[in-house]
Amino acid sequence: MDEGKRELVGTIWKSTGSWYEVQTPDGIVLSKMRGRFRLTHQRETNPIAVGDVVTLQMVGDGTGVITGLHERRNKLVRRAAGRRVGFEHVLVANVDFAWIVQSVLMPKLNPGFIDRFLVMAEVYEIPAGLIVNKTDLLDKIIREAVEHWCKLYEKIGYPVLRTSALSGDGVDELRSGLVDQITVLAGPSGVGKSSLLNRVEPSLSLRTGDVSEKTKKGTHVTTNAAFYRLTDGGVVIDTPGLREFGIIDLDPAQLSHYFVEFVPFLNDCKYPNCTHDHEPECAVVDAVDRGEITEERWASYLNILQSLRMGDKDVGR
Ligand code: GDP
Ligand code: ZN
Repeated sequence: MDEGKRELVGTIWKSTGSWYEVQTPDGIVLSKMRGRFRLTHQRETNPIAVGDVVTLQMVGDGTGVITGLHERRNKLVRRAAGRRVGFEHVLVANVDFAWIVQSVLMPKLNPGFIDRFLVMAEVYEIPAGLIVNKTDLLDKIIREAVEHWCKLYEKIGYPVLRTSALSGDGVDELRSGLVDQITVLAGPSGVGKSSLLNRVEPSLSLRTGDVSEKTKKGTHVTTNAAFYRLTDGGVVIDTPGLREFGIIDLDPAQLSHYFVEFVPFLNDCKYPNCTHDHEPECAVVDAVDRGEITEERWASYLNILQSLRMGDKDVGR
């Protein structure tokens, strides 16, 4: 058989500079991308991302050349760094689920981050949920505050996991949710993502650390995502770049569609272009008054609306 013509289909596992590790039925094949990709995907700084399904041709030395990119089910992107306005950096493609990871303390729960991330997940049609980690640190007072937020998101319909990487609480539940799918863990540094992954899969031995130490080191972190394969048959993607993401190209007028609990009311506002801000006879505001939409989520909506209007797309901090 002519090795030079053999084609394989695989998933991008890792990207390191100009080389890609592609998971194929024959195992991992180190591959390069064919030059024309750079020309055909001009709005993306990285035409091929972790999670992409590609076709490659084997060359004689056992490496591959990527010749085709399969259509993406979905993707997570962030605005490319630097001055290249309008360019996007694809963090991962073909994601089955995204967990937003927060901790109860150190750092404390950040609903602003959660809501911005949920909007992003809705925009890209990625099912999402919330992990609240470090439950071992809860005392009575914080517990009530944290439960308030957990119940709020559960009521909207997002799954919420309460975990402790320290005590192991909720870790079995997390592990069983990761089986046989591509999951993204997103959250600020220090919430315990690495610790949780180590609990789920001790062989990963990821470095965990002091929050301040990590923040210092994090200044120049790479935005490349890393894939971790689990023994139970799932893949977890840890994406440092998701600490600060932008809601790219979102028209402020569309924002309310991505607050899922607002959707049933959107057709009942008096004005079809209602922004649910100051307009009279707004069905969203009426729903807030009746307690069917929470004040918290409405305030969060207005906050994001404002930042989109100001053209400030660097959000989520
Ligand atoms: P990451 O930056 O999100 O990957 O966070 P790490 O896993 O590195 O954890 C940051 C810090 O929080 C470390 O000092 C961990 O030991 C600590 N930590 C992680 N999970 C827990 C937890 O469930 N409870 C407590 N008390 N500390 C935790
Ligand atoms: Zn309205």
